[in-house]
Amino acid sequence: MRVNLPKTIRLRERKMLRESAVGMAHYGKVPLIEIDPRLGQKERLATLVHELAHIVFPDLTESQTIQVEQRLASVIWKDGWRRLAPDKPFQTTAKTKQP
Ligand SMILES: [Zn+2]
Repeated sequence: MRVNLPKTIRLRERKMLRESAVGMAHYGKVPLIEIDPRLGQKERLATLVHELAHIVFPDLTESQTIQVEQRLASVIWKDGWRRLAPDKPFQTTAKTKQP
């Protein structure tokens, strides 16, 4: 299975109006994740994990990606992770550490 670990993943908030989605992953040299800013914290976490899974494991089916999202987001949520400043502007770039 292909694993894609880009050094940088850009994050952007965008109200999804016409799409039936609440988040989107765009592939490329610097992948971009878009998240609808109207989501609650728990749904936002799940959506972020879901879109990250799309980028890191591009060969998974949508159904497999949903399973990854549900397992990971559930554990992260139960461990108490929340956004510290939900009203502050979304970070535009999240650089990952180099191995
Ligand atoms: Zn998806």
